[in-house]
Amino acid sequence: MEVRRTVPVKLDVDSDDTALLRDTVDEFLWAANYVVDHAWQGDYKTTSKAQLQAETYDEVRDRTRLHANLVQNARNKAADAVQSVVARWRQGEYAGKPHFSKPTAVYDKRCATFHDEYVSLATVGGRIEVEYVLPDEERDTPHSRYLDNDDYEVTGAELHHKNGEWYLHLRTKAGVESDKPEQATTGHSTVLGVDLGVNQLAVTSTGTFWTGEEFDHWRREYENRRGDLQQCGTRAAHENIQSVGRKETGRFKMMLHRIANGIIEEAVENGCTVIAFEELTGIRDRLSGASWGHKWAFERLYEYVEYKTELHGIDVEQVDPENTSRRCSHCGFTHPDNRDGEGFACLRCGYANHADYNAAKNIGLRYLRRNQTGDGGGAPVGVRLNRGTLNANGEYDPPAGDSGQSGSPRESPTLNEARSSDRAK
Ligand SMILES: [Zn+2]
Repeated sequence: MEVRRTVPVKLDVDSDDTALLRDTVDEFLWAANYVVDHAWQGDYKTTSKAQLQAETYDEVRDRTRLHANLVQNARNKAADAVQSVVARWRQGEYAGKPHFSKPTAVYDKRCATFHDEYVSLATVGGRIEVEYVLPDEERDTPHSRYLDNDDYEVTGAELHHKNGEWYLHLRTKAGVESDKPEQATTGHSTVLGVDLGVNQLAVTSTGTFWTGEEFDHWRREYENRRGDLQQCGTRAAHENIQSVGRKETGRFKMMLHRIANGIIEEAVENGCTVIAFEELTGIRDRLSGASWGHKWAFERLYEYVEYKTELHGIDVEQVDPENTSRRCSHCGFTHPDNRDGEGFACLRCGYANHADYNAAKNIGLRYLRRNQTGDGGGAPVGVRLNRGTLNANGEYDPPAGDSGQSGSPRESPTLNEARSSDRAK
């Protein structure tokens, strides 16, 4: 499994370089705040990094002396902050417009070169080389554990100015190349299953639901607007139809980014190393009531989850969807009558729960079984549930020290599941 650590290192900076770093940080913050201001205009907030890049990059390059990659990092910082505000709104929380004032700048390997004892940093006045202030080699410190360790690679850093001193918070990671084999032999691979649908756009095996209501609402709304405009038949109306189309796409993408972020948060919070979806091919035929719009939305959602998880070292996989909605995630009995609309009730063991939640668990289980066959035994693995895990045999394993309820309102456990959890204790 991939391991990431952040190691703070003090920098030995002379007065000329201090001036350069200070100007660089000032301009970096200006750039990030400029992008936030831009994202904040208009009816809805722009969260797409690609869109923000297209709309602000030239202006920021013109108005600052920042290295091209520092401009991009400032834009990423701004986009992440706006995305998290929008996500909090969706949870009904209050969150104001982000503003950056803490003196920091984000570096990656394109605007910094990390050596064992010093770093080369891009500044508004070109590259400078700055030495690390390193502690005694003998002591067991984060530096000796991660920086002097060839297994750890520095992937980037945040520059901080605090109490008159400069620090680099170095991000390190290890085991990137041998990620998968290592996971198969030693890792406790935990998978988050995700079921996609029409009534519920996405449901995780941890019991979080994202309803399709908002999606349906906006789809109807835009269809009506288009319909009204089509009746006008003028050139202006035609242009308006195109603008409705763009607005629609923008709004849907924003919604899908929020869901993707939510799914990833769920995986990170639950320590999952894999997110499993059902195969997207043919999904429109399998789901009753699914439109081309749904198919488009599921493909975008998958794509967003896939590229956003790169940062977290989580794999995203697709599994064979056959019978995932008819199979009992508790005892494995498969029958079409197990399912009635949104309700699932196993004809054999009586396990009853929301049908999409049952399907999400099956998707996680299918990934585990697929990855356990063929390699003789395999690693201890589980599907992450709201309270505990299911192993590949569908057996329930409550979390250590589980009092029986995580306090989360997401899943109301059925009697059967509560019983099985008691038995397991
Ligand atoms: Zn059953």
